[in-house]
Amino acid sequence: MKVMDISSAVRQKGQTLEEPVLQSKYSLQFHNSKQEKYFRQVMLSDIATSIGLDHRESMITYIVTLIFVCLLYNSAYLSAYFEGKSYLRTLLFQTLLLSSVTLATSIIHYFFFMKEIKSDKKSWYLIALYFVFSEIVIFNNVFVKDEIFADQSEYGFACVLGLLPMIYSSKFAVFSTFLMYIAINFIISITFLAVSLQSDTNIQKTLIEFFFLISILAIESRTFYTKEYHLRNKFIAMNAALTPESRLNHDVSPKTDLEQISRAVKESIQLLPLAKRKESKNSVYLEKIFDNLSKVINMLGNRNSIYSVDLEGLDKDFDDEDKIFLEQTCLGPRRSQVQASTKYMVRKTIEVLKNYDIQELAGVLKRIGKEWNFDIFFLKDVTKNKPLATVGAFCMQKFHLDTSFSIHLTAYQGFFVDLEDNYKPNPYHNSTHSAEVLCSYVFLIQQSVFTNYIQDYEILASVIAMLGHDVAHPGVTNRFLVNSKNSLAITYNDSSVLEMMHSATTFQLMQKDNQDILVNLPRDMGILVRALIIEMILATDMAKHFDLIGKLKAKMINSSSITLTSADQRIEIMKIITKASDVGHAAKSQDLHQKWTNLVCEEFFTQGDMEKAQGLPISMYCDREKTDIAKSQSGFIKNIVLPIYETLNQCLNSQEIKEKCINQLEQNMKSWESLILPKRVHSLMEPEESHTLKNRTETTVAGRTGRSSWATIVLNN
Ligand SMILES: [Zn+2]
Repeated sequence: MKVMDISSAVRQKGQTLEEPVLQSKYSLQFHNSKQEKYFRQVMLSDIATSIGLDHRESMITYIVTLIFVCLLYNSAYLSAYFEGKSYLRTLLFQTLLLSSVTLATSIIHYFFFMKEIKSDKKSWYLIALYFVFSEIVIFNNVFVKDEIFADQSEYGFACVLGLLPMIYSSKFAVFSTFLMYIAINFIISITFLAVSLQSDTNIQKTLIEFFFLISILAIESRTFYTKEYHLRNKFIAMNAALTPESRLNHDVSPKTDLEQISRAVKESIQLLPLAKRKESKNSVYLEKIFDNLSKVINMLGNRNSIYSVDLEGLDKDFDDEDKIFLEQTCLGPRRSQVQASTKYMVRKTIEVLKNYDIQELAGVLKRIGKEWNFDIFFLKDVTKNKPLATVGAFCMQKFHLDTSFSIHLTAYQGFFVDLEDNYKPNPYHNSTHSAEVLCSYVFLIQQSVFTNYIQDYEILASVIAMLGHDVAHPGVTNRFLVNSKNSLAITYNDSSVLEMMHSATTFQLMQKDNQDILVNLPRDMGILVRALIIEMILATDMAKHFDLIGKLKAKMINSSSITLTSADQRIEIMKIITKASDVGHAAKSQDLHQKWTNLVCEEFFTQGDMEKAQGLPISMYCDREKTDIAKSQSGFIKNIVLPIYETLNQCLNSQEIKEKCINQLEQNMKSWESLILPKRVHSLMEPEESHTLKNRTETTVAGRTGRSSWATIVLNN
C-alpha cells in the first residue's frame, strides 16, 4: 500500500483532495484518517522534515535514558552485592530484563528506520516495549523481590528514579499523539501506586512519589501538546505545499510559470528523502519527482517567459469579462489570436521590381538572401549612401509585403528614406550597418527551414525592426550614456537606453504623414507587428544576451519542444536571428569582417577619447592606446558570436549556416588569435589622423604585427 503518497493516491481515484483539518484543539486528531495515519508515520520517521527529525533526536535521547536507567538499577544491585548482601540472582534477573528491553527498543528503532522495514506498527512496538520497561522498573520493588526471591532480604531501589527520566524522554520518541502519552503513562503511574501501596509500609512516602509522578506527567503532557499542535500545523502547511491542486479552488490569482516551477522543485526536494528510502513502494516518489522535473523542463522550453501567465489556466479560472480585462491590462497581444496572413506563396524567384532605381540594381540586389558575403559597401557606393532605403524597398517587393498589406510605394519609400536620414554618420552604427543586418537576416531565414514557417506579418516586422534597430545611434554605448547621465539614459531610466530609443524613434518616424506603413493592417495584426518590432529591437541589447541564449538553450534541452509552427517559438528564434545578424560581420569573409572591425573599433575608440576627456572610467576595448584589437575580436567571436550562431543552428540545422557562417567564424577567430601578441600595448589608429581609414589601418596593423598577416593582405586588396 502506497501509504505515504496521499496526493497521488487520491488523484488516481479522481477525488478532490481534502486538506488536513484538525478535529478539535483538544484531541489534535485530523478529520481524515488517512492523513492522521500519514502524520503519525511522518512524525515517527527519520524523514528529513522538521517533523521527522524531532523524532530522530528524541529517539536517541530516549535510548540513552533507557541505558542510563538500566545501569542505574544494575549498579544499585552491584553495590548491594559488594556490601555483602546476596543479590546475585536478582542482579542477573534485572540486568537481563532491563538490558533486553533497551536492546529491543534500539533494534526496533534501527530496523524499522535504518533498514527500511515496513513501519506501520512501529509506534505500537515502541509503546509495548516502553510499557514493559516501566513495569520492570516498577516491579523492581521489595514486593516483587519478596515474591520472586523470597529467600533474600529487603532491598529496594526507588522506582520513581527510573520512571521520571522515562516519562520525560519518551514523548516524541515513542508516542505519536499526546493523548496516547497521557493514557499509557497514567496506567503506569496507577500501576506504580498499586504496587507500592501493596509492598511499602510507608504510605505517605508512596503518595508523595505518586503525586510527583503525576505532576511531571501533567507538565510533560502540556509540553507534548504544545509541540504536537505546532507540528500538526506544520504538517498542514507541508501538505498544502505538496498538493497545490487542492488549493486551486481558493486561489484565483493567475499562476506564472515561475510559481509552478518553484512549486514543482520544492515538492521534489520534499519528496527526495522519501524516494531515497529503499522500499520498492517508494518508486511512487521517484515517479512524482520525474513528473515534476519533466514539467519544469517543458515549462522552461515551451514558454517565452517564466514570468508569463498560463493562458490555459486563465481560461479556466476567469469569467469572460475578467479574462478580457486581464488580457488588456496584464498581458501582451496574444499571438495565437492573430490569423496568419496569406503565406507568401506568391514569392517567385524573379521579382518584378517597380522602383526604377532598384530595377537598375536588380542584378545586385537579387543576391540578397542568397549570398552571405553580400557587399553592402558596394551597394552603399552605387546608391549614393542610400543602402537602407534601397534594401528596404527591395525587401518590401521581394516578399510582396506591399501588396499583402496594402502598403503604398510612397509610404514605405518615404519611411525608409526618413529612417536612413535619421541614422548618424557614425563609423559603425550607421545606415549601412542596418542595411547589412537586414541582408544577413534575410539570408539566415532563407537558407534554413525557418523560411517555411515565417509568416508574412513576421517578415514585415523583421524588415522594419532590422532597418530601425540602430536608428539615431549616437555612436556610444549604453554604459557611456548611463555613466555620463545623458538625457537619453534619464528618459529611459538606464534600462536598454539605446534600444528603447531606436524602437521609439522608428515608430515616431512611422507616425509622420503618409509614412505609416502599418496603417492598413487589421487592428490585431497591427498591434502584434508593433510588438514584434519592439521585441526584436530590444533583443539587440547585449545586456540581454545571456538571457536570450539561455532561454533558447533551455528550450532545446527538450528538443521536441522547438516547434516552428508556434508563433511564440518563432519570435524567440527571430530574436536570435536578429542578434546573429547584428553581429553578423564577424562571420563574413575576412575582407568584409576586417572593414567592419576597423569601423567598430574607431567608434569605440572615439568613445574612449570622450570618456578620457570627461574623466569617466574608460570602457573595455575603448582605449585606443591599450586595446589589443586581435584579442578583443577573437574573444568577441569566441564568447558571443559563435555561441549565438551555434545555438541558432541547433534549432535551424542549416547546412548553409554551418558552412557559410560558422566555419567562417571559426576561421576568423583563429586568424585573430594568431595576431594576439603577448602583453604589448597596441594601437590601431593614431587619434590625430583623420578619415582615410583604410590607409591608417594598413600601416598600423602591419606595423604592429611586424609580419604579413591576413589582415594586411586583405586590406591591400
Ligand atoms: Zn546594430
